Amino acid sequence: MECKKEENLKYCNCSYNCPKKGICCECIKDHRERGELPACYFDNETEKTYDRSIENFMKNKKEF
Ligand code: SF4
Repeated sequence: MECKKEENLKYCNCSYNCPKKGICCECIKDHRERGELPACYFDNETEKTYDRSIENFMKNKKEF
């Protein structure tokens, strides 16, 4: 299966300079191993805090 990195980048809101950007399988694996969620689970402002914790996700969701 071919990597869809270029297509994925259209939907990636991560502002961190990271080599995994657009490589969603590696991105989610990395964050899952740390009990976190990737940038695309957060709105753009919250994403910029780089707090990818589930607690921050839940707090952010309540503010929608
Ligand atoms: S969400 Fe995390 S792993 Fe994914 S591109 Fe951003 S910094 Fe990298």
